[in-house]
Amino acid sequence: MSFSPVISFDNVTKKFPVRKGFKTQYVHALRNIYLDVFPKEIISIVGESGSGKTTLLRVLSRVYLENNGSIKFKGEIIPKKFKRNEELKFREQIQMIFQDPFSSLNPVKRVYQILKRPLELHKFEQVNQRIKEVLEEVELTPVENFINKYPHELSGGQRQRVVIARAIVTKPSVILADEPTSMLDVSIRAGIMKLMLKIRDDLDTTYIHVTHDLAAARYISDRIAVMYAGMIMEEGTADEVVLDPLHPYTKLLRKAAPDPDKITSEKLGNTGEVPDLINLPKGCPFEPRCPFAMEKCKNYLPQYFQVDNRKVRCFLYENR
Ligand code: SF4
Repeated sequence: MSFSPVISFDNVTKKFPVRKGFKTQYVHALRNIYLDVFPKEIISIVGESGSGKTTLLRVLSRVYLENNGSIKFKGEIIPKKFKRNEELKFREQIQMIFQDPFSSLNPVKRVYQILKRPLELHKFEQVNQRIKEVLEEVELTPVENFINKYPHELSGGQRQRVVIARAIVTKPSVILADEPTSMLDVSIRAGIMKLMLKIRDDLDTTYIHVTHDLAAARYISDRIAVMYAGMIMEEGTADEVVLDPLHPYTKLLRKAAPDPDKITSEKLGNTGEVPDLINLPKGCPFEPRCPFAMEKCKNYLPQYFQVDNRKVRCFLYENR
């Protein structure tokens, strides 16, 4: 693995204004995000709904713009406003796999047209050859059986393979995968995850994978970053984070994971609710749910503490 990150978040903050009567308040969706993603790695961003994981992908893909901080792609800051042709180049390199294969494909276009469009947009040559190659890559073979089908003529798993084919057809270096298996039957999830791993190995693709499922994250990832209330609370290798979590919130997630063979169960007191992202606690956002909370957790926001090669935002690790 190369040591120069392909993507680098540097103190990224995103907040959304909401009107409450005459007052404008802010939903703090991302706070002080620092994250490096290295070439050919799969990093999973794990957290409950509202933790900010999808916002992180959307800020990276320029659906939203950060309020503070910056994001680099291959060492260059991604501009908030692209110059002519810059956006096209950026979009060729960073592609997205969406959660819902049913709504993310145009129902009146055949597979051939769906895959042809990005190739035309990015001015690829030998379009037919590339469409055949990419259908073989996602294992929709024999190609003749799929190339002229409409999305409604395919199963859920086959549709998600078309979504993946569309994402990789321009040979991007980074794929953003937003819960790519959560809408699929359990029986076909493993096949899609195996395909994502095969594509990483065949095409040297980097993935940022968003999920609420810790077991799926462990299966597919090299590293995991755990998000809570818009912040990354813990970061480490997939095995470290799942088998030996440091942060009390990661321990709570592990307790909620459904596979008892892989992930052991552990009592963690009152599990509580996620905080209001408008009126966040002054100190650690996990303090109201944390069985280990100390007095200072109420008043001070923990910074990152290094534990071996891992980073964790929790005062329990302050003096290690
Ligand atoms: Fe719990 Fe305090 Fe650690 Fe926050 S900083 S997770 S409240 S012990």
